[in-house]
Amino acid sequence: MAHQQLLPMGDEFSRDERELSDIDSFVKAGRAVFTVLNEETGNRFTYRVKRHKRKRSLYFVSVLTGSDNVHDYTYIGAIFGKEFRSTKRSRVTEDALSFKAFAWFIRNVRTLPNSVKVFHENRCGRCGRALTVPESVKNGFGPECIKKV
Ligand SMILES: [Zn+2]
Repeated sequence: MAHQQLLPMGDEFSRDERELSDIDSFVKAGRAVFTVLNEETGNRFTYRVKRHKRKRSLYFVSVLTGSDNVHDYTYIGAIFGKEFRSTKRSRVTEDALSFKAFAWFIRNVRTLPNSVKVFHENRCGRCGRALTVPESVKNGFGPECIKKV
């Protein structure tokens, strides 16, 4: 089985081989921001996946559509359990590349080919705080949050 890494953004990429399930845990940790790069197509999108406060299997997915890494997100749809779909509030259609790319990504998150790279933003996937410890940068989780995912 192919291994895939969750990579920190920036100059130093982790060299450690990581299991695909770690990317899955990161994406569904609660406050994940990550970039998916498909080296075959050249497509690259930064997504934010937020968990609903009470419904633990419901996530809201937005895509970065501007240069402001905090505010320029456009809501595209929701993950209900294992299904990703658009909702009334979605601001892109299901034909949009950002929507189709995420639908494909989340369906294949445990079997991503090596040509698909996933980068975190040096922020904890669970709480959103900046990661400082090298071990945390490698994992995508702060030292407290890693115990809870
Ligand atoms: Zn955290």
